[in-house]
Amino acid sequence: MPEASQPTIFANDHGVIQRYRNYLPVTDNTPIVSLSEGSTPLIHAPRLSARVGKGCTVLVKYEGLNPTGSFKDRGMTMAMSKARENGSKAVICASTGNTSAAAAAYATRAGMDCVVLLPAGKISQGKLAQAFVYGAKVVAIDGNFDRALELVREIGEMDEFEIVNSINPYRIEGQKTASFEIIDDLGDAPHIHVLPVGNAGNITAYWKGYREYHAEGKSTRLPKMVGFQAAGSAPIFYNQVVTAPETVATAIRIGNPASWEAANEALNTSGGKIDIVTDAEILEAQGWLAANEGIFVEPASAASIAGLFKCCAKPCEGCPVNAIEPESTIVCTVTGHGLKDIDTALSARSFRTIDAKDDRSDILGKLGY
Ligand SMILES: *Cc1c(COP(=O)(O)O)cnc(C)c1O
Repeated sequence: MPEASQPTIFANDHGVIQRYRNYLPVTDNTPIVSLSEGSTPLIHAPRLSARVGKGCTVLVKYEGLNPTGSFKDRGMTMAMSKARENGSKAVICASTGNTSAAAAAYATRAGMDCVVLLPAGKISQGKLAQAFVYGAKVVAIDGNFDRALELVREIGEMDEFEIVNSINPYRIEGQKTASFEIIDDLGDAPHIHVLPVGNAGNITAYWKGYREYHAEGKSTRLPKMVGFQAAGSAPIFYNQVVTAPETVATAIRIGNPASWEAANEALNTSGGKIDIVTDAEILEAQGWLAANEGIFVEPASAASIAGLFKCCAKPCEGCPVNAIEPESTIVCTVTGHGLKDIDTALSARSFRTIDAKDDRSDILGKLGY
């Protein structure tokens, strides 16, 4: 039984374990470590829908509204609760930024130490600030994410540490709850699900969730899973490890995805596909989504929107998006909040303030009223 000092669920806690406990590997002895993650909005996007056409409905699953600003919180509540149940005192992870933010917050919540390995200089300031402020021990290594994950696998063999990267199967279990929420909101699965792909844990988790709910009779269909990688970091698309991945979308700057095989299984069995988007397309989509739908997401998240635009603009062989039936439902996951990485958002465009005197008529004049 949990000790009295262990974190427990409070009546007003509506985290994903509380909401979906029958579908998750927890028992009465699992101390639940939660920040009330999940239950994120599925936002109807009328202008995005119009751009897709054919009477389709596009909805955006806004995962930036999780407690640390990305979907990583869904997996972290599970991984950290199980680590606590197993008596671990410390967790370790490699991260492109969001995993470390989530790990740091949930480790603090669990009363555990948190060590994060980051590729030096390749993390957005917002995410780095989160890791520091939540109290993690931050190690910046002279190597990329893939190298950091190799080191975490080695160090994680020590009894002292529990690994909380998505190679920890509990991460995938927690993340699959996003599919449950979508089906609960829509009353059925969408026809197509679009999302960015980095280490490929999330596409694996979504597909698992969709299949489990379908098997329970909660949906009449399974969606086609459509994933987008950044053109400079696209190992799954090219079917080849990328030794020096590059992209402005740091959260998907990964050359050797841990869940590569599972992602291929999701793509193939769902009748979906993987494709690439350029950094320019990602930044264009990021700006478009903010300025047209009022949804500000980080660059990696915009890959799913950029991908949808690409599929609609230029039909290619065997594209499930282009072959879509009229009146279909498409869900795009946008994985992280735009405020995570304001440097990229600001430096990619030329914004200017309108300068005025502290005077009503000068302000109105400058505005053209
Ligand atoms: C982690 C992350 C991704 C990539 O997810 P994978 O499970 O690694 O494929 C995409 N976007 C954001 C914002 C992320 O934090």
